[in-house]
Amino acid sequence: MAATDLERFSNAEPEPRSLSLGGHVGFDSLPDQLVSKSVTQGFSFNILCVGETGIGKSTLMNTLFNTTFETEEASHHEECVRLQPQTYDLQESNVHLKLTIVDAVGFGDQINKDESYRPIVDYIDAQFENYLQEELKIRRSLFDYHDTRVHVCLYFITPTGHSLKSLDLVTMKKLDSKVNIIPIIAKADTISKSELHKFKIKIMGELVSNGVQIYQFPTDDEAVAEINAVMNAHLPFAVVGSTEEVKVGNKLVRARQYPWGVVQVENENHCDFVKLREMLIRVNMEDLREQTHSRHYELYRRCKLEEMGFQDSDGDSQPFSLQETYEAKRKEFLSELQRKEEEMRQMFVNKVKETELELKEKERELHEKFEHLKRVHQEEKRKVEEKRRELEEETSAFNRRKAAVEALQSQALHATSQQPLRKDKDKKN
Ligand code: GDP
Repeated sequence: MAATDLERFSNAEPEPRSLSLGGHVGFDSLPDQLVSKSVTQGFSFNILCVGETGIGKSTLMNTLFNTTFETEEASHHEECVRLQPQTYDLQESNVHLKLTIVDAVGFGDQINKDESYRPIVDYIDAQFENYLQEELKIRRSLFDYHDTRVHVCLYFITPTGHSLKSLDLVTMKKLDSKVNIIPIIAKADTISKSELHKFKIKIMGELVSNGVQIYQFPTDDEAVAEINAVMNAHLPFAVVGSTEEVKVGNKLVRARQYPWGVVQVENENHCDFVKLREMLIRVNMEDLREQTHSRHYELYRRCKLEEMGFQDSDGDSQPFSLQETYEAKRKEFLSELQRKEEEMRQMFVNKVKETELELKEKERELHEKFEHLKRVHQEEKRKVEEKRRELEEETSAFNRRKAAVEALQSQALHATSQQPLRKDKDKKN
């Protein structure tokens, strides 16, 4: 198609005309068709649980879905935070739900918690990346693709009654542009009613003052606007989890039993569990899925594509050319490669120069050492030579003395041997 045709088609925006139908055509069944197709296809929903070990994450998940998910008890000795996803197939009536629960194992257990948020951010990004890769495939199959993007992050707050920990604020801030965060106060049965009220106000104040964006239940759909607006005012939900059943009156209810009474999980006077379940599962599950796709994934996708050099053409300019972008990126990549090569070469040359200098210095030191040793050696040699001379002189003096003594001795011997002979002669005479 010629460029001018392209322009003509892309700019043409004919006004739609309203017509009335003569009779029933049938496209009013489109919503039903959609519902039927979706039900056949099934749904996926992915929940990320972030909170300290032992805060009650697994118990709450079991309570929420009224089942027992297999979870292994986490220790407090994880070296770093580890994301552990587990997928389950659930069915209610004829609706299939592929539910993935992701546990941030070891969160809050390390002495240095500076990087605790990173594995969580990386996990969320990795799920976006997988989806983007599927979208970019030539033969993509998004229809039966198992979407693992995180639809909601339940952030479990410890019921201290004081304020949020800095770990909570940092983590939520890092996550808020990537996932829908619903903060919940865990183990709400361990805090008194008045303390809980003040704690909720404090938490919301801290989230606002630190610019942390939490998920707001949507109020644009008339059918749920009222309930959602009321529920937004109840955030963060204070929840109690239990899978234990206790008899209250003549009914068995899920509760936690204490010596002084029973805390009923589904009693709205006792905690906000029902509110959480209503909002998360019964009213806003689809909105959470939709927000994940249209807001968080869209942001990730935009940044990634811009990073790769893609851009949208505005209405008047030429349409975006993939070929040109590819060429530009290739050039950019090659010049970057060249720059890196040059950098490495320079580094190598510098290293060689440095080593050369070091070697020269070593050689000079060795030479100095050698000269010093040579001097010491010569001095020693001179001293030995002197000693030898002295010794030789002493030896010859000794020999001379010895010869003189020997001469004297032989003279004396000669003299004593002549004396008796003379005496005999004298006697004869
Ligand atoms: P996780 O490590 O965060 O998954 O925590 P668990 O769900 O394994 O719970 C740890 C302990 O806390 C268990 O003994 C639970 O019975 C207890 N627990 C869970 N939920 C609550 C709650 O709402 N209130 C109280 N008081 N204890 C709870």
